[in-house]
Amino acid sequence: MTSTRLSHAVEPFYLPVRDEVELFSAAYEQRIPVLLKGPTGSGKTRFVEHMAWRLFGDRPDAPAEPLVTVSCHDDLTSADLVGRYLLSGEGTTWLDGPLTKAVRSGALCYLDEVVEARKDTTVILHALTDHRRMLPIERLGTTIQAHDDFLLVISYNPGYQVATKDLKPSTRQRFMAIEFDYPASDLETQIIAHEADLDETRAGQLAFLGEQLRRLGEAGVIDGPGTRLLVHVGELMVKGIAPRRACEVGLVQALSDDSDVQRAIVDVVSAIF
Ligand code: ADP
Repeated sequence: MTSTRLSHAVEPFYLPVRDEVELFSAAYEQRIPVLLKGPTGSGKTRFVEHMAWRLFGDRPDAPAEPLVTVSCHDDLTSADLVGRYLLSGEGTTWLDGPLTKAVRSGALCYLDEVVEARKDTTVILHALTDHRRMLPIERLGTTIQAHDDFLLVISYNPGYQVATKDLKPSTRQRFMAIEFDYPASDLETQIIAHEADLDETRAGQLAFLGEQLRRLGEAGVIDGPGTRLLVHVGELMVKGIAPRRACEVGLVQALSDDSDVQRAIVDVVSAIF
């Protein structure tokens, strides 16, 4: 579990791609839970960090941890989210899990890749995501009412979800969905330039490369590179690694292990750098 302590002075850099800032703000005002849907590296996590800063950044009554992020995985149980009794010298003490902390303090709780978690975790979200806004804590035999400022945000990558791990309609229909896709080339150029501290020309070439490789992605050959991957390549270039070499280690190897596919990617790289 990671939680983010926001500094009032530092705004997490986020370049809006469409109307996601307005949509999220409206959903927050109405306390409608939000589902961020989109491929890996498309800016979902950064967006939530940015929104937490916008919503809580300058509020004196903001919770100490305005954003609680949980990366879900297939071993994650409801106890990992809600809390558990811990054994200590003095006996047993209850420890709130990240979700309970956020529910009590009025933070945003971001469950990244929620479908990866065990099925019993999504069930506990139901009472939290309708008009009741309540979290049942079975082991304590209680139910807690969510703080007014609490909001649940989940993410989901439709690309690599298998049917057995899909979100159930009964869960899904509780959320407003904001779709994320890779930014248009001019926006992605700005993002790469900012994140990697790279000059605009090189950043533009990387954005163009991303666009070309995503075409291979659409053809089903590879999963197209996310912005994160392009930023990494830019960061290597800034450190003086030659562009082709940076692409090879930062991108080609990350996208495929198949030597034919790697050759196809290298051809695209060589046409640009
Ligand atoms: P996801 O959560 O969708 O996997 P991230 O939010 O971790 O993706 O995005 C990966 C990286 O890409 C971020 O750390 C950031 O550097 C960059 N990024 C992607 N989209 C944007 C954007 N719209 N504005 C600013 N940075 C972005």
